Formats: sequence, C-alpha cells, structure tokens
Amino acid sequence: MDARRVVRRPAPAPRPRFVNACAAVAGLGLGAVIASVILNESRGSLAAPGGPVTALGRLAGFTGAYLILIMVVLMARLPWLESTVGQDKLVRWHRRVSPWAIGLITAHVLLITIGYAQAARSSALGEAWLLLRSYRDILAAAVGFGLLILAGITSYRAVRRRLRYETWWVVHLYLYIGLALAFAHQIFTGVSFIGHPLVRAMWIAIWLSTVGLVLVFRVGQPAWRSLRHQLRVVEVRNEARGVVSVICQGRRLDKLAVSGGQFFLWRVLTKDQWWQAHPYSLSALPQPPYLRFTVKGLGDSSRALASLRPGTPIAFEGPYGAFTDHARLCDGVLLVAAGVGITPLRALLEDLPTDADVVVIVRASTEDDLLHRQEITALVKHRNGRLHELIGSRHKVRLTARTLRQLVPDVADRDVYICGPEGFGAEVVAAATRLGVGDDQVHLEAFGF
Ligand SMILES: Cc1cc2nc3c(=O)[nH]c(=O)nc-3n(C[C@H](O)[C@H](O)[C@H](O)COP(=O)(O)OP(=O)(O)OC[C@H]3O[C@@H](n4cnc5c(N)ncnc54)[C@H](O)[C@@H]3O)c2cc1C
Repeated sequence: MDARRVVRRPAPAPRPRFVNACAAVAGLGLGAVIASVILNESRGSLAAPGGPVTALGRLAGFTGAYLILIMVVLMARLPWLESTVGQDKLVRWHRRVSPWAIGLITAHVLLITIGYAQAARSSALGEAWLLLRSYRDILAAAVGFGLLILAGITSYRAVRRRLRYETWWVVHLYLYIGLALAFAHQIFTGVSFIGHPLVRAMWIAIWLSTVGLVLVFRVGQPAWRSLRHQLRVVEVRNEARGVVSVICQGRRLDKLAVSGGQFFLWRVLTKDQWWQAHPYSLSALPQPPYLRFTVKGLGDSSRALASLRPGTPIAFEGPYGAFTDHARLCDGVLLVAAGVGITPLRALLEDLPTDADVVVIVRASTEDDLLHRQEITALVKHRNGRLHELIGSRHKVRLTARTLRQLVPDVADRDVYICGPEGFGAEVVAAATRLGVGDDQVHLEAFGF
C-alpha cells in the first residue's frame, strides 16, 4: 500500500459503565412489565372460569414480547455495546435469551387459547379458530408467531449447520415483519392497555425506540458512512493458495475511527452481490486513503472476491468488535493465529505500542500458507518481540499446554489473543487456561457466529 499520509483515529475506548447502565435499564424494564401485568389483574377476573390461565398467558405474552425487544436491541449494533462487549458475545447473549422469549410467547398462545376456552366452556381448538376469525389483529399475530417459530428452528445449531447462511439470514429478516404483525394485537387487544393510556403510550414508545435504534445503527449509520468514505477496490492481490487481499481506496479514511483487530461487514456493490454483507477483519491498519482486508475463499462470495475489478464500489457496516488493544490487561501479549485467522492479529500487532512485550505464534499447513509473513516478521522485530512459526498439518502440529509452556513460559502474565478455526481456538483457550491465564486475559475472535 502506497500511503500518502498515515493519520488515523482509534476506535473509542470501551464503556463498561454504559453496558452496566443498559443492563440496569433492561432489568428495571422487565420488572415494570411484570408489575404492570400483575397489577392489572383483578380478583374478579382471577376468580372467573379460565381467569388464572388467561392471566398467566398475559404475563407470558408481555414478558416474552419484552425479551424479544431486548434480543433486537442486542443485535441493533449499538456502537458502545459493540465496542465494549464485542459482537460475538452479544450474539451469545441474544442466543441465550431467545429460548426464553420463544418459550414465553408459545406459552402465551397456548394459555390464552385454553383460558378463553375455559371461560367460554368450549374446546381449545374451537376457541383457537374463533380467535383467528373474529378477534382484531389475531390472524396477523398468528403469522408473526409462525415466523418467530421458524426463526427459532432455523437458529437451532443442528438445523443451522445444514442451511446456507443467506437462507438463515432471510428468515431472520422476515422476523422483523413478524414482530410488526404482532404489535397491533398487543396494542388493540392487550387487556393491560385497556383503560390505561399511559401504559399503552409507554409500550408504544419502547417499541418505537427499538425500531429507531435498528434503523439508525443498522441502516442509517452504515449508509451514511459508506457514502462518506466512498470505498472502491483498487487492487486484488494474491497472498497464498485461495487467499487474496482486497485493497480499497476511500475518502476521509483518517476520520474513520477503527482499531487493529476490528472487522467490518463488507457489501460488494455488484449486480449479484449487493444484497449480502460478509464480515472480514482489517488485515492492516488503514493507511488513508487505503485500507485492506484479506480473505480466504471458502464459499461462493468469498471466492468471488478474487475476481473483483478495480473501481468496484464497496459499502460497509462497522467497525465492530472488541478484539482490540483496549481489551488488554497486562503489559505482555501473546498473539496466536492459525490460517486466515492471522488477519485481525496482523492489524492488532501493528496497533500495539512499540514497547509492548510481544510474542506471536502462527500456525499454518505449509510455509506458503503463512499469510503476511514478511509484514509480521517486521512488526515483531520492530517491537523486539518473538515469533514462532508452527508449520505442519493441524493433526500433527498442535498447540497443547505443553508446547505453549515451552514456547511462552510466562504465558500466565500475558493477555492471549487467539484467532483461527473453531477447534484451534478452543484448543488454545484450554491450553492457556491450564497454564494459569485468567478468563479476562483470554480474547478469542471466532470467524463464525
Ligand atoms: C467477525 C468475523 C471476522 C471475519 N474475518 C475474516 C477475515 O478477515 N478473513 C476471512 O477470510 N474470513 C473472515 N471471516 C469469515 C468470513 O466471514 C466467511 O468465511 C465468509 O463470510 C464466507 O462467506 P461465503 O459466502 O463465501 O461462504 P459460505 O459457504 O456461505 O459460508 C462459509 C462459512 O462462513 C459463514 N458465513 C457466511 N456468510 C457469513 C456472514 N455474512 N456472517 C457470518 N458468517 C458467515 C457460514 O456460516 C459458514 O460457516 C470472518 C468472520 C467473522 C464472523
């Protein structure tokens, strides 16, 4: 990269207080939702036939709907959440909440149907049919419920593995439609709102704020940044078998706040690919007006990058991720990479202070597969660090606790940043933990959600 000037802004520092405040607000909100439903139940309604079951159904419905909003907010790409917690952890939280949300909404559907059937002394199936036919907005809500269940099933690990990423993504996109469909029935048929305009107004405000966050941070901000920086491909460079670096040129890249180790979602604006965005880490710090990411061709889209033509426009979302120097706790650092996992570590290495005590371990099947080898060697040398290259098949050359202790005897006093295939990452984390590296000192970047 032939940089004209090297000026850049690092990503903002993490804000754990903001995350704690968000958690407190979310917890208070949950308490308020539960309290408003419970306080709305009268003795009379609870004593009536079907009353207790219906009341439980309402509680399940509101709590489930609130948890779904929390799930949406976790994925709304709020910058301070992203840079403090990291997208992989946010995805894990989102996944942890999802069975509760789906379970509660399912319980709501069943309990309300059974409760109404008990009240009308009819069968549950007959009542379900009646609800669908004659209650305002229930049919739309049922479609929304179907989309929610579909999103839940397709996110189940065993099912998801068999699906193309794009199929899973489109199903999730439908879920937003499902939520919109379910909203009207909450507002117009939700007993908790009848006669309580303030509670209704607050519920509408919570939903509108959530929609606003999604529109601002998932649509508006990426569109604005893409227009502002106007990235275009200037070169596609072969790095190794099936691996290319894409070098882009853009405007005002010195204004783009990004740290080494972060990634973007890149959207290649060609006829066939504009609709899908893929995450790739920067493989070097931006050198305005250039930036670079390095990609291993694993599927259709990543392989297609090898034939990108100069001048192709690229839109992007990000930067995202907490896999940065901000996360470092110790003076000493160990960077461990396998294969294309070297990309974020290459940029992070460049971002570490020159007096940082650095050890780098890189694993690859052959010497030719060692990506950005010269750059890494130079960066390590510049920091008076140590570089260990482990070459050989992944079954023969493994990074066990024993090997790690031999290579880095003081590993327990270092932050350990790891990026590579799933199995490799887990192996290194286990080895580091066995050698006394604390959980907070381990930073793992996984190339798959
Ligand atoms: C935070 C992060 C950083 C990454 N950085 C790099 C990098 O610097 N260099 C690199 O070569 N690869 C990187 N990857 C992996 C890269 O995103 C996938 O290899 C790429 O998206 C595959 O797309 P495909 O259509 O060619 O392959 P497919 O055959 O469609 O998918 C191959 C694998 O990639 C996953 N995948 C596909 N699309 C996406 C998507 N949009 N989001 C998340 N996962 C997806 C699939 O679930 C599957 O496991 C990164 C992934 C993540 C999550």
